[in-house]
Amino acid sequence: MLMDPMGPLRLDWKYMPRALPWFTRLLLNLRPAPFQRTVAGIRALNESSLGAWQRLLEAIARPDLLKEDGSLLVFERAESRQAIDALQARMRQQGVPVDLWQARTVRDVAPQLSERVEGGLFFPSTGHFLDPYRVVCELVKAAQASGVQFIKQQVMDGRVQESGVSLLTNQGSLTARQVLIACGAHSARLTAALTGKKVPLDTERGYHLMLPHEHERLPFAVTSLERKFIMTPMADGLRLAGTVEFAGLDSPPSMERAWQLHRLSKGLFKRDLNADAATPWMGFRPSLPDSLPIIDKVCDGKVLLAFGHQHLGLTQAAVTAELIGRMVLPVSTAEVNALPAVEAYRLDRF
Ligand SMILES: Cc1cc2nc3c(=O)[nH]c(=O)nc-3n(C[C@H](O)[C@H](O)[C@H](O)COP(=O)(O)OP(=O)(O)OC[C@H]3O[C@@H](n4cnc5c(N)ncnc54)[C@H](O)[C@@H]3O)c2cc1C
Repeated sequence: MLMDPMGPLRLDWKYMPRALPWFTRLLLNLRPAPFQRTVAGIRALNESSLGAWQRLLEAIARPDLLKEDGSLLVFERAESRQAIDALQARMRQQGVPVDLWQARTVRDVAPQLSERVEGGLFFPSTGHFLDPYRVVCELVKAAQASGVQFIKQQVMDGRVQESGVSLLTNQGSLTARQVLIACGAHSARLTAALTGKKVPLDTERGYHLMLPHEHERLPFAVTSLERKFIMTPMADGLRLAGTVEFAGLDSPPSMERAWQLHRLSKGLFKRDLNADAATPWMGFRPSLPDSLPIIDKVCDGKVLLAFGHQHLGLTQAAVTAELIGRMVLPVSTAEVNALPAVEAYRLDRF
């Protein structure tokens, strides 16, 4: 499956030598003790994620940007029922609210889905953005209104000095008292330059296909267990997303993988999805082999780090911002207690 160019999980064989150490660490992290640490670390961030986004959007008076409507995981094969039951049990054990829906309920709520759907798991405490780009624009606007200045330059190198941090950019040099590295999958080189630490950051490339003529097909995000992709109703249409590809930061996208999502959707609806004028996209998920991000303050407080959120960077963005805020600003004890502890996300675990 790993070598299938259209499979849900693909490893580019040319990338194999570079990916091997990362995969080795990933496998070691699947042993019971480190695996439990990962589950606890992800859970702590996820539990605080929705509340953090609500606070952030309230602060900019745009709570309407987040749609808290839940999401559904459907299955089509009777033999998948066992996997669904096991997943439901695991989720309940982790305290995640989840309901088992029979086929009839799925049909009532999402009548355009095929009769093949046997049922699903509904996660009521989840939400999604109708337009993530709009969310970013609104946050930028609010930050600018409160005096934040944005400088768009590519940072090529940097050094930590006695007085602060100096950065070399594609347009010159900059100095700062404190810097935050939040460059997603591109964060490793800068982290090494500033902290001397080599982090095992890789990228799980993912694809989506945006269908602009598909509105009102689904009431909320629906994932297919067997087909392994997600469909999210958004302001600009229906977004089909998923797949993991290990091929590094430099090799060009294989957009056929995005079109494959449309082929995968065939048969999941009573009427096939319209892919006219669809647009494919590839993005870099920043992933560390223990699936936890790095959220930390190092170099005597001069360097802050916030990257490695793998498949959950949008979900965990606001809670990460709160954690970083707590590291740089004085906060009350009540606020400190409300946020997850950061020990699990430290740089020195590598
Ligand atoms: C197909 C797909 C679907 C996804 N769906 C979801 C989802 O439903 N929910 C979810 O929570 N997550 C999802 N993710 C994951 C999410 O997109 C990532 O986890 C998230 O984007 C990581 O955020 P980030 O800010 O760390 O990195 P990025 O979003 O990659 O942002 C990094 C920024 O740093 C800038 N940068 C990089 N290097 C430099 C440099 N040297 N100098 C200056 N700037 C630099 C880049 O230009 C970029 O603006 C999905 C990812 C993909 C690919």
